[in-house]
Amino acid sequence: MILELTLASEHFHEIVYHVKAHAPLESCGLLAGKNNRVEKVLFVQNQAQSPVRFVMDPQEQLKAFDWIDSNELDLLGIFHSHPAGPETVSPTDIAEAAYDVVHVICSRIDGQWNLRGFWIEDGKAKEVTLQIVD
Ligand SMILES: [Zn+2]
Repeated sequence: MILELTLASEHFHEIVYHVKAHAPLESCGLLAGKNNRVEKVLFVQNQAQSPVRFVMDPQEQLKAFDWIDSNELDLLGIFHSHPAGPETVSPTDIAEAAYDVVHVICSRIDGQWNLRGFWIEDGKAKEVTLQIVD
């Protein structure tokens, strides 16, 4: 279980820029790195093209997994956006969580984008502290 994940502020801005550009549709991607520190954000197309759901394009997801492997990084997290909230993982997100990684939600609350992380296990979500550093 990961209880803390570190991201550079440039990763945070990269994610917000991307999700803003795709809102009101949900967007998604992968966070790769080492030792609970994100080193690379990989965007994957949301095949569902929906404002309330995401399904990673399987081919792009595979390509991103290959990139992570060949750069000797680990898959640390999966992020997706909730352009209309909530800030937390939804019951669907919990039910569909397929990897033991941090599930990061980029949500828009009162016009402001926020990132929160969750660890999903046994049908429950536990908050993961996201450290954003310069
Ligand atoms: Zn969701």
